[in-house]
Amino acid sequence: MINFNQPHLTGKEAHYMYQAVYNGKLSGNGEFTKKCQQFFETRYGFRKTLLTTSGTDALEMCAMLCDLKPGDEVIVPSYTFVSTALAFLREGAKVVFADSMQRNPNIDAETLEALITPRTKVIVPVHYAGVACDMDAIMAVAEKHNLLVVEDAAQAIDSYYLSRKSKVESRKPLGGIGHLAAFSFHETKNITAGGEGGLLVVNDERFVRRAEIIWEKGTNRAEFFRGEVNKYGWVDMGSSFLPSEVNAAFLWAQLENIEDIQAKRKTLWEKYYERLAPLAAKGAFTLPDIPEYATNNAHMFYIVLPSLEARTALIKYLKENGVGAVFHYLSLHSSEYYKPKHDGRALPQCDRYADCLVRLPLFYDLTIEEVNHICDLFDTYFQ
Ligand SMILES: *Cc1c(COP(=O)(O)O)cnc(C)c1O
Repeated sequence: MINFNQPHLTGKEAHYMYQAVYNGKLSGNGEFTKKCQQFFETRYGFRKTLLTTSGTDALEMCAMLCDLKPGDEVIVPSYTFVSTALAFLREGAKVVFADSMQRNPNIDAETLEALITPRTKVIVPVHYAGVACDMDAIMAVAEKHNLLVVEDAAQAIDSYYLSRKSKVESRKPLGGIGHLAAFSFHETKNITAGGEGGLLVVNDERFVRRAEIIWEKGTNRAEFFRGEVNKYGWVDMGSSFLPSEVNAAFLWAQLENIEDIQAKRKTLWEKYYERLAPLAAKGAFTLPDIPEYATNNAHMFYIVLPSLEARTALIKYLKENGVGAVFHYLSLHSSEYYKPKHDGRALPQCDRYADCLVRLPLFYDLTIEEVNHICDLFDTYFQ
């Protein structure tokens, strides 16, 4: 059986976790946490980063930082994980769902403006499969209407947006464009913190101090530890968002190997693309779309079938032949929980991805031979 996903170990995880244990400092914000945060701030130029216990927690911190009032509206794609919407709903906001593009599941920047009302406060682009949303267009809409942008970059580590603003092309790391961003280190993502983990990114200086306070249970403890204040106490809202040093140690072992991990994933992704291109050309399905303004971080290899029936049949065939292929999100606007609260707009592209998209196995320890085997099965099935 070729599983859909299998977490990868670089070999150093247990070693660093052992170090964390014998350092005598197990709680959060220790040496490994600082190393990981420094990695992101240096490699990607993020203004301030804070490790969290999950991507969901990082999104919840973003939502708290947006300081929403009851009735404020937040625009979220319907084709995403529950946490993207839930983080803002928990803060009392009204979630307004946006449709995906025709070309890929990302939020459609062109239809975004029609969703904006005087109550709109935040736009949440999700970089699906680690492929950038059209951030120049989204940031322009946000600027025009004075909105905050929170990037759900859960899948988007080490991926870039190629900005065409001011004629010269510039490469911006995803998670570094909006005011705030969230990454995930869940075991299904490219880099994991030992199963669960996340990162809050603060790009806008205005949110740096409050982010640290929310992270430290509503206290100014971080300032106290830096010697900036001589006692610490309760100063704001907050919760316990920081992971233990044991998780940070695991994450550090993975970050040290990010080049190798990314290179291997890209090789596998490109093999799928090359081998499946002839079938896609014949119209059997469509291949993943990487727009001219995006790079590929090989988070996921998905294809889109012409119908739900075609997808169901393909998944069944692959399963019978020992391959774990899986569909992805169900439309959040028609979920059991949100449907009664949704404004009734149809979101046809989102529904199409919910019905027709299927993800193929892609993980570090998958071999080129296995990818070739899966593609051979495709050739047999579609001939
Ligand atoms: C994985 C994921 C999340 C949630 O991250 P967790 O670390 O599992 O909490 C949120 N949004 C998207 C788009 C994701 O893929």
